[in-house]
Amino acid sequence: MSRMPVIFIGHGSPMNAIDDNRFVRQWIRLGESLPRPSVIVSVSAHWFTDGTKIMTTEEPRMVYDMYGFPKELYEIKYSVKGSLKTADMIKKSISRNVEEDNSWGIDHGTWSVLCRMYPKADIPVVQLSVDANATTQEHYKMGQELKGLRDQGALLLGSGNIVHNLSRVNWDMEEKGYSWAQNFDQYIHDSIMAYDHDAVIKYQLAGGSASLAVPSMDHFAPLFYVLGASEKSDHVEVINKSCDLGSLSMTSYIWN
Ligand code: ZN
Repeated sequence: MSRMPVIFIGHGSPMNAIDDNRFVRQWIRLGESLPRPSVIVSVSAHWFTDGTKIMTTEEPRMVYDMYGFPKELYEIKYSVKGSLKTADMIKKSISRNVEEDNSWGIDHGTWSVLCRMYPKADIPVVQLSVDANATTQEHYKMGQELKGLRDQGALLLGSGNIVHNLSRVNWDMEEKGYSWAQNFDQYIHDSIMAYDHDAVIKYQLAGGSASLAVPSMDHFAPLFYVLGASEKSDHVEVINKSCDLGSLSMTSYIWN
């Protein structure tokens, strides 16, 4: 079995589950062009918990964790199987405590991306939460511990946004970003491309843009899992490199 890629997707608005735009066209292309995984392990920004939680059911439910969007978004069904076997493998791989939790489910951080990449919903999905109390170094280490899954046919997906500040969203700035948003996105880009993971872990080194870009760790932290699971020998592909609505970045990375 060949080694699977790891991907970080900047998911942006939940409307990307149904809209046609240049961002989702890239997601569709990825689903068609990446080697087909046997299972998907998704670290979702929208499962932000006290401690690390994992979904262990074979029949996960969908969570419609977004408010005030058009009805058709709530009518999307992404009925995938879970994978107990993969969940067990993850629990054994991570050296911290990982708690089984099936009270949540597959949230829109995961399904808004996967319903475009794999619309047939025929690949099992295991979702892992983002521990609100972990440091960036701890998130990164968990990613390193998950690296072996790549050789087991699993596609590791981090779904979040590198720049995500909802209080600064400007609806008049379609496909544009404030200068601090662009600066931070570029800082992360340059660090990733130079394989300087330490500069990503210590993202505050980016200066004043860091606290504006990352007011909370939920959307930023999924990056560390895929970064930790990447290898220096991986080819890095950058897609959707841009900011949107002033204070979001859609920039996404594939390590292959
Ligand atoms: Zn989100």
